[in-house]
Formats: sequence, structure tokens, C-alpha cells
Amino acid sequence: MARYTAAVCRICRRENTKLFLKGDRCLASKCAYERRPSLPGQTGSRRGKLSEYGLQLREKQKVKRSYGLMEKQFRSTFERAERQKGITGVNLLLLLERRLDNIVYRLGFASSRSQARQLVCHGHFLVNGRKVDIPSYLIEGGDSVTLREKSRKIAFVQDALDTVVRRGLPNWLDLDRGAFTGKVKDLPTREDVGGTITEQLIVEFYSK
Ligand code: SF4
Repeated sequence: MARYTAAVCRICRRENTKLFLKGDRCLASKCAYERRPSLPGQTGSRRGKLSEYGLQLREKQKVKRSYGLMEKQFRSTFERAERQKGITGVNLLLLLERRLDNIVYRLGFASSRSQARQLVCHGHFLVNGRKVDIPSYLIEGGDSVTLREKSRKIAFVQDALDTVVRRGLPNWLDLDRGAFTGKVKDLPTREDVGGTITEQLIVEFYSK
């Protein structure tokens, strides 16, 4: 599986926003973006005015990189969103939120989406009691996600569960920490995804 291998903090600096790709470090003063928000590889902050295409491209890259997807996966998620009823941009964000690796991250079993993806790929989770090792698996309302018993002593999972208290649990999810089980109370809405994304720019990017 293809994956992004360059220094991840450069991505935040490139996209000019915190994308929370490095777990606990992102919440600390060590955050590279907070210490040096300029563009990577250049001296000083040289962020000129972006063209319309530039704005669309940057928004697409920001969301794609935030969820840790490569272009092919992101594009196919967009095409699926297009085929659904409703607003394509909103559909796209909700499909991304419903991915199993994202749910594992949101529940706090992992400190970043890349760590969550690795845990899922290695078969550490059950969905409604059945092992699922596909990060793109789409969760439905009412589903439960459980860390398998043999995986409960993994140290970084324990650390991540401590961190989620600071990060906060979305209101559409529930976590029973003692049972290592998360519940999807309801599917997320656009409001649950957050307000810093202009999804229409992504739709415009792919509509060219
Ligand atoms: Fe981004 Fe986290 Fe690195 Fe800060 S520490 S620049 S939020 S990945």
C-alpha cells in the first residue's frame, strides 16, 4: 500500500494549518507548525495570494492529507460521494469520517490516523464482534468497535486512550474504556466534521 513517507510536520506547514498527524506532540508546545508556520523549504513566510485553482488544490490536499489518503483513494471516495444523493462535498466529508481508521482514531485507540490505520490493518479490532482489517471499511450508525482482548496491553494504545480526554470525544461516539469498546451512537453530520473545511472548493477542483 502506497503511503506518504516525508516528514509529516512539513505537511501542516505546507497546508498552513494544524492537521494533527503526530498524536500527542500536536497538542504540545513542540508542534512544528506553531514554532515555525512558514512554508517548508523556504526562508521567511512567503505565502502570496493564491489563484482560484491554487485555493481549490490546497483545500483538496489539506483534507486528503488530514485523513492520510493517497490521491487514488481520495479520488475514488470523491466519486462515490458524487454518486450519492445530496451535496457531494458534504457526502465526501461524511464518507471520510465513517472510515474505520478514522473511527479508531476518534475513539482514542490511536493517537493519529496513521497509527489507527496500522492497528486496523494488523487486525486488532472487531466491528460488531467480527474482525475487520480494512481501514476504509465504512461504519454504520449503531455499530460497535472493540479492541481485541489480546491487543489491550499495547502500551501506545493505553497512552492514546489517556490523550483522548484532552482531545475530546465527538458527541456522535461513545467510549466504554473498561470494555475497550466504542459505539457509533449516530452517523456524523456536517457540523460534526468541523468548520475549517470548504468542501465546495474540492468539488470545484474535481469538476474541471
Ligand atoms: Fe502538524 Fe502535529 Fe506536526 Fe504540529 S506536531 S506540525 S499539528 S503533525
